[in-house]
Amino acid sequence: MKEALNNHLKLAVSLILAFALMTVVAVAQKKTNAKEKSLEEKLAASRAELISAANDYKASLEKLIELLEKDVTAARETVERRKKLFEESVISKRELEESQRQLAEAEDKVFDAKKQISEADGVIAEVIAAEQMAKMKPAGAGAFISTIAFIRFTGNAGWNIAEAGKVQGFFSSRFGRSLPVSAFGQSVTHDKLGYDHRNAMDVAVHPDSAEGQALMAYLRSAGIPFLAFRQALAGSSTGPHIHIGYPSKRFAR
Ligand SMILES: [Zn+2]
Repeated sequence: MKEALNNHLKLAVSLILAFALMTVVAVAQKKTNAKEKSLEEKLAASRAELISAANDYKASLEKLIELLEKDVTAARETVERRKKLFEESVISKRELEESQRQLAEAEDKVFDAKKQISEADGVIAEVIAAEQMAKMKPAGAGAFISTIAFIRFTGNAGWNIAEAGKVQGFFSSRFGRSLPVSAFGQSVTHDKLGYDHRNAMDVAVHPDSAEGQALMAYLRSAGIPFLAFRQALAGSSTGPHIHIGYPSKRFAR
């Protein structure tokens, strides 16, 4: 009787142990899956975070521009007033020039804020493209990928922003004007958004224009990597541009 009880007890203990072991294995498996998933999720989350930060940044700049434009209007009125006073010999030329300098300064501030908005738009377009590229097969060196939204050449000659002069030289000798660079390397905007753009430059040309086509043909022949945006991507009002260099992989601050 005692032995039977012992056997029952043993069975119960081993059942409990087996169940406990199964639970441990299941939890461990769940943890591994969660770990794998969290890496993808982290990247997707940091992209989403970056896009939302860029949109907030743009919104604050737009508010700032409204105020700065009021300053421009006021400065312009001062210049007009002082012009008259100067003509009437009421004020000195120096006083007129001082107001003209203040007007130019106010206009520069608006220009800078607008440039920062266009840089933020560039970041948004590039992050959206990175999202799409993350879903595609990894592309090796020298690969050329063309989608409705973007064109990508992965390059095979390496790239350093110090070589930008070569690209500028090609463009100005072909088109008789300087390369329209909209973002060169790391800007204050990129810093603020925690976006690594140190080794890249953005050129404001449409990839389907004659200039864009010639520039991309040159970059391909020189083995220089680029990412060209054909159209404003969803969620971004940015105009088409060509990003010369590798796509940014760093989104963390
Ligand atoms: Zn870029």
